[in-house]
Amino acid sequence: MQRRCSACHARQEAFAEKSTLHRCEGCKLKQAASAFVPFCSGKALVATTDAEQRGFQLTNSALCNYLRREGLADLLLDSEAIEEHLLESRELTLTVNEDRYVEAIERGSAEQPLAPQQPEERDSSSGLTFSSVYRISSHVLMVMFLS
Ligand SMILES: [Zn+2]
Repeated sequence: MQRRCSACHARQEAFAEKSTLHRCEGCKLKQAASAFVPFCSGKALVATTDAEQRGFQLTNSALCNYLRREGLADLLLDSEAIEEHLLESRELTLTVNEDRYVEAIERGSAEQPLAPQQPEERDSSSGLTFSSVYRISSHVLMVMFLS
């Protein structure tokens, strides 16, 4: 998982997970490790309730918001713990956009799986119908964080 300095936003190359203090590689300020903002992105392969497997890109904001809301902000210090948490969560509802980026994660299943939140649009070039944002009930099969 990447860390960024909250003062100068420099990306940290040598941040030791679970350390308590760290000197910013950009502005050289020594700070509590928790002052460095975690930045995670990754890929997840999920199984949906219609028994399909789909791959999505996990975004930092979706993961951070989800973990904070669930009282699991401590996991942000440990990307492997997040991976294990996601894999062990039986049902999650992902809000995804048409580019397959996960915009939000919620615990539990959606009341209406795959219900479009916005009116469906028709892509005239391909003839495919898609909704621009949709919610999907899923079970995470594989997850990988990119650092
Ligand atoms: Zn800095």
